[in-house]
Amino acid sequence: MRPLLGLFLAVISTWAQQDLSWKADIFASERENEMAEQDALTRYFGNDKRNTTFFPTWDTMKTKVGDFINVNSTKIKNHNYNEMTAWLQAIRLNYPNITHLYSAGKSIEGRELWVLIVSDKPKEHELLEPELKIVGNMHGNEVVGREAVLYLAEILCLNYGKNKYLTDLVNNARFHLMPSMNPDGYEKGFAGDRISAMGRANANDVDLNRNFPTKYPEHREQSGGNDPEKRKTLPVMKWLQSYPFVLKENIAVMKWLQSYPFVLSTNLHGGSLVANYPYDDSVTGQDGIYTASADDKLFVELSYRYARAHTKMWKTGRRCGLSAEGDNFINGITNGAGWYHLAGGMQDWQYENTNCLEITVEMGCFKFPTDDMMPKLWEEHQFALLSFMEMGLTGVTGLVTDRNNNTVANATISVDTGKDIISTESGEYWRLLPPGDHQITVSARGLESDTFTVTVMPGQRAVRHDITLLACGDNETKSELYIRGRGKNLIAVLSFDEIGGKTVDELARLTCTGDFVIDKDISLMLIPNMTNELKGRLTDFDPSAVLIISEGIVETVTFSVSENEPRLFDKAKMDESLLKALGNSIQCDRKLLESKTALRVDDLQLKKAFELGISIGCEAKDIQKKAATIGTIADMIKNELIKDSVSEFSVVPSAHPGDHFTPDQMILVTNAAVAELERKECVQELARGPNKFYLMGSGKPPYTLIVAVEKRTEAMAYEMMSTYCNPETKSQFSDILDKSTLVFLPEIPHTQLNCHDYDTISPFKLLFDDAIGAVSQLDFVIILATGGMKVRYINDTIGIGKQMAEVYRSNHDLMKATESEGCAKGFPNEKEAIRAFSWHDNASRMDKSGVDHPSDNLDALLVQIGCCYENMASGHLYTENQRAIKSALIERTRGVRIIGGVDGMTVSVDHMHKALPLLGGRRFVPLPNGEHLVKVKTPGGQMHAQFAVVISDKNPTAEKFIGVQSSNMIVITVASILMIIACTFMCRQRVTSVLNRRGFFNGIGSNHGFERIPLYKSDDEDEDEVFDLQKL
Ligand SMILES: [Zn+2]
Repeated sequence: MRPLLGLFLAVISTWAQQDLSWKADIFASERENEMAEQDALTRYFGNDKRNTTFFPTWDTMKTKVGDFINVNSTKIKNHNYNEMTAWLQAIRLNYPNITHLYSAGKSIEGRELWVLIVSDKPKEHELLEPELKIVGNMHGNEVVGREAVLYLAEILCLNYGKNKYLTDLVNNARFHLMPSMNPDGYEKGFAGDRISAMGRANANDVDLNRNFPTKYPEHREQSGGNDPEKRKTLPVMKWLQSYPFVLKENIAVMKWLQSYPFVLSTNLHGGSLVANYPYDDSVTGQDGIYTASADDKLFVELSYRYARAHTKMWKTGRRCGLSAEGDNFINGITNGAGWYHLAGGMQDWQYENTNCLEITVEMGCFKFPTDDMMPKLWEEHQFALLSFMEMGLTGVTGLVTDRNNNTVANATISVDTGKDIISTESGEYWRLLPPGDHQITVSARGLESDTFTVTVMPGQRAVRHDITLLACGDNETKSELYIRGRGKNLIAVLSFDEIGGKTVDELARLTCTGDFVIDKDISLMLIPNMTNELKGRLTDFDPSAVLIISEGIVETVTFSVSENEPRLFDKAKMDESLLKALGNSIQCDRKLLESKTALRVDDLQLKKAFELGISIGCEAKDIQKKAATIGTIADMIKNELIKDSVSEFSVVPSAHPGDHFTPDQMILVTNAAVAELERKECVQELARGPNKFYLMGSGKPPYTLIVAVEKRTEAMAYEMMSTYCNPETKSQFSDILDKSTLVFLPEIPHTQLNCHDYDTISPFKLLFDDAIGAVSQLDFVIILATGGMKVRYINDTIGIGKQMAEVYRSNHDLMKATESEGCAKGFPNEKEAIRAFSWHDNASRMDKSGVDHPSDNLDALLVQIGCCYENMASGHLYTENQRAIKSALIERTRGVRIIGGVDGMTVSVDHMHKALPLLGGRRFVPLPNGEHLVKVKTPGGQMHAQFAVVISDKNPTAEKFIGVQSSNMIVITVASILMIIACTFMCRQRVTSVLNRRGFFNGIGSNHGFERIPLYKSDDEDEDEVFDLQKL
């Protein structure tokens, strides 16, 4: 720590301790300051976060707005329903040309949900003028927003025609201001209420911000009306079939949100000081899990726009009081679920179901301030509200028309990252976007899609971009190349001949008119007549599959090398479907088999693509049917391609540990930790090829490989290594480290970035072969992966996989909570929470190398510990899994350790296991509790030793020395890697002294020729565990 800064902080904290009340200033801890340089805002905006053009401060805004008439100070106080109504009616009377008052519906007790419009043409929607809104007081006792909305309405009107900035806003946007969404609750609240819940809910005692339809219905909360008892008292609203308990106020608001093309909104709450953005609901339903929407960067920008123009919301650190009552925020913004999880909120519902983007602002620490507090609160918020609403005038906007100048309603406006926007009845669209270049695609049924690029500059008003879409099959839309769809799976369809060309052309037409709908996860590139000139376009497209459509006998032919072929592709089945669809045509040639075709395909130089030739007969008839068949095959191929690797949908991974760790923590969760661990003599590095293994523990069997096979789980492996070595925490793991050996492979070069669901682990065989090459004693692997919330195992050799899977799952809070896998998301194949895998599955049969894999004798546990759509955060993985993995590793030490013997000897126990070979003169045999008969046989099959062991929870690990052939053997064993590792450990002293005392090193052993190395207890107390049946 830098001493001066330390001193400064000490002074601050001494002083702050005297005033850490709800109204204390916001101070950041050193750690929070570090985090403020790594959060989402910094990641997206870097130093631009300090740029006042991107993010105006309170002072910048004051200058920008200039002189204006503010609300008369005598009017700045709380207003009950009657006073609020009077305020709104007065404005309407005083400013009839720029205001319009309407009600979005009634509350349960019959109060109006007033909305005041302020705009230059208040009663009509002006073409391309954005509709913006603010909703206050959704929680009845959170009232600062209610007042702020009234005051905002007042200054917009007072200054119209007088202040340039405010007049400009009123002229160029239409503001819908709803001061209170919960007028009934307000009347139950009381001024002076800082943090109570009195008046929070509506008249049915239901929390309106928990009562919207949810993305994950199982997350619905009781307070949102999801309580069987409560439901009996709730009015059933027929309006929403799927969830008839959505309340009157919410139904009114949902209808309201769907009746205007709102672009931007904020929902004003109270009780903390922060701007909060979607999603509020995380897939696991846990608190503190950053759950980004597709518009994450934009939401971060919008939120910080608000926070930064507030006098202090933007500050990093604790606000609103001490400990449990306080909240710590970085840069004054937070992802909703990253703070706490909330299902049934308004902002999530709106994001999913409308064009509108909404954030939720906590206006201050006091939910229901007294009148005298209100002027300061208004002063703090006035420019933040303006700075935020101004964003509604940015981005890109325009009209979608067809070539006859008809406007196109319901056109889809897609952006590179962000949700789709749908055009209005008048063909308008507004797309807010963060600064930078964006590619926009506009598509509509029956029209040819079009794409353009737009550059958004910070502080600039919306870029106007109108677009005219041509009809499908127009002469002008005839093209040599078409792109269809915006999915991530790229497939090209092309032809070299006339009948194939006609078919591809027809597929282009069908996918344009919408008569054939391609899967939303696909992008198709259609080239009816493949020429050399188009090769570059095809190469740039970089498809993962290419379908070459040709005339000729109905069949398929694969051109690509077998690695490119999806594992699930079945030529016989495909040909059968093709014949069924198109009928037989034996009269034709087999054009695809001509060398000319093969050469032309080869000439495409698509080295990574799966190239499939499809010949479709030799008559130019039924072209439509042929085209639809090809479209269907493209869908099938896509499924095969993604099932190869991904069975859940992928997300953009955030592999950067900085997302969620402080610099100190980062050292613990990246390979930067290794140097420190080696310095502590806690791990021993063993490099083999590109892989670096780290050995930890006593050097005794069992040996367990722990490997992170995805970028997302690397941090967890490193954090585990760091924690197991940390002097302060390592004692918690002594049961594991003293009794077994862990071999970490925390990182694989070129590891998987995308999230997968796994239906096999056989493709990892080569990696595990490598591990066994490095550490021959390995007989179990734990694979850390994501793509689900479930466990898979292989039980075939030592028979412990299933037990490990059960122990892991039952000690994992999220996994044990559900019977099927915890990431509910319509993929039917892999739902079981626990399932057995085998090394000898389809994937392994693809391996035609004929090589024996040492890893075939490795049993395995695959833990899938994160859902794909819950991207970003990996910082919670270790915490979430620490109990499960510790329990599994302790379970791993249940059994008997056999020491001595020679290679080639085998050990078998009862009738439970295959005979297991001794590895380096040792073997650990996992056993359940109970008494077991152990037999060790010589390479020739003779009985070498036979004895019984008793395994119990009290004494889970037994050990047995079975003697050796010669003292040489011991020397070899001692010199082996095992002992080297053992000697690098903290337990080294004890182990070696015990070994010396027992005469282990000089090969004498005890008088009986037996030896047992003491385990975790003091030396002699548990002799009785091992019964000698046969002495040598
Ligand atoms: Zn609230």
